[in-house]
Amino acid sequence: MNTYDVAVIGSGPGGYVAAIRCAQLGMKTALIEKYSTLGGTCLNVGCIPSKALLSSSHHYEEATKHFADHGIEIPGEIKVNLEKMIARKQAVVDQTTGGIDFLMKKNNIDVYEGLGSFKDATHIKIEGKDAGEIEAKHTIIATGSKPSNLPFINIDKERIITSTEALKLKEVPKHFIIIGGGVIGLELGQVYRRLGAEVTVIEYMDRILPTMDAGLSKELNKVFKKAKCKMLVSHKVQSVERNGDEVIIKAENKKGEIVEVKGDYCLVSVGRRPYTDGLNAEAAGVKINDRGQVEVNEHLQTSASNIYAIGDVVRGAMLAHKAEEEGVFVAETLAGQKPHIDYNLIPGVVYTWPEVAAVGKTEEELKEAGTEYKVGQFPFRALGRARASGDIDGFVKILADKTTDEVLGVHMIGARCADLIAEAVTAMEFRASAEDISRYSHAHPTFAEAIKEAALAATDGRALHV
Ligand code: FAD
Ligand code: NAD
Repeated sequence: MNTYDVAVIGSGPGGYVAAIRCAQLGMKTALIEKYSTLGGTCLNVGCIPSKALLSSSHHYEEATKHFADHGIEIPGEIKVNLEKMIARKQAVVDQTTGGIDFLMKKNNIDVYEGLGSFKDATHIKIEGKDAGEIEAKHTIIATGSKPSNLPFINIDKERIITSTEALKLKEVPKHFIIIGGGVIGLELGQVYRRLGAEVTVIEYMDRILPTMDAGLSKELNKVFKKAKCKMLVSHKVQSVERNGDEVIIKAENKKGEIVEVKGDYCLVSVGRRPYTDGLNAEAAGVKINDRGQVEVNEHLQTSASNIYAIGDVVRGAMLAHKAEEEGVFVAETLAGQKPHIDYNLIPGVVYTWPEVAAVGKTEEELKEAGTEYKVGQFPFRALGRARASGDIDGFVKILADKTTDEVLGVHMIGARCADLIAEAVTAMEFRASAEDISRYSHAHPTFAEAIKEAALAATDGRALHV
């Protein structure tokens, strides 16, 4: 039987990064993955394929709607070849997952293809291509998550689908109905809206992106409405039925009325659930809590002291970069180091266009905590760079402590915000004040100038260009 210092179960961004860091730190490492490709949800059916389709559909929208404004004329009709678009997305996925195979070899990590399940706290059975058993001093559970569902919905994976099927549709829906106005619903809704589908978003809460700052929800809602998407917030879905190629959804609005929506595809995107099926966690003494998460302490250690868990399968945001941070954290803990993660500084990004990005506390959270704060906000439309490219929607909002001026939260919606948020994370990591940000130079003309201007606005309303 092969023996290891560390076995990692699951090869998503949590698992494969943990394996690399363990190997870098001199531990003999095994990685177990039940599918034939590495990379987990993120690389195969999550972050990467969704961003490929967002990019392709964005190009199409630019070509059909905005090229003419720039004086670019394309004679004849511009058409979508969905089959080719999906094939390109798959090629991007294949190249990216292939890159993980390379990294495993480079770091001398033994990869086992098969379902890993605990026999006890130090022995793991593998069922599948590389069937057998291994022994590991430590194990890192990184088994990720799967789409959640509502108890009354039968996801048939043809017309009533999850994000996994929505990433490989064979036709552009005529009417794409989305249950859940969160990250997945809005990203994939925008993809198919751009490609010509009518889109209806049904959200249970009173706003889309209900966990983000309300200012961002409001602005993105405007963008979706401008694109003629139907946004039904405060609607409680009661039934989802399929009749041939038609899907019929009934939802109750705030007034108690039943609203019926008919379409040809329905995406169920109401969140994801931690995944531990088949893991046999109890045989190792690993406790699963009533939310289905592997229970961990502040060191990400489970109820079995030699077993750790990271990523979507434990508490916290279900984000690839959070899983990666936790993978590194556990590897370094096992090596005797004292790593640290500041969960408040894990940014959240929605890759719609305009992009939405945030870090730190929202206004709602500051109000609830009774923290006195000030707000500096700056609209992208006031920037030369935004007008030059034609991306004028959105703003940057900085929330700073009223007394100390320390930046407590940064919330932005606009072009390139997914990348701009890194400046806010850096500033907050070093506990910058709004005035600090306002005093260092930002290249002109850039979208980043909106961050400096918002910081100036937070510093006694000193914005220069509004
Ligand atoms: P996963 O990536 O889910 O990997 C878990 C792996 O474990 C899987 O490969 C699974 O097959 C394997 N596994 C499970 N059980 C076993 C077992 N018993 N034996 C062997 N193998 C097992 N996050 C972002 O930060 N940015 C984004 O842009 C983004 N976009 C997304 C878009 C979509 C459509 C979706 C669905 C998710 C997106 N996410 C995004 C979320 C991101 O994919 C997850 O947060 C991330 O993948 C979690 O990583 P993980 O390593 O915890 O688990
Ligand atoms: P989510 O939690 O972002 O959104 C789910 C939405 O569904 C929420 O707005 C919620 O209020 C709503 N909802 C819940 N029950 C409902 C009901 N009965 N009727 C109507 N609406 C209902 O979840 P998601 O969009 O499914 O994404 C799952 C996870 O994947 C998220 O945690 C997210 O972090 C991750 N993800 C991240 C990215 C990114 O970082 N860009 C992209 C996609 C997914």
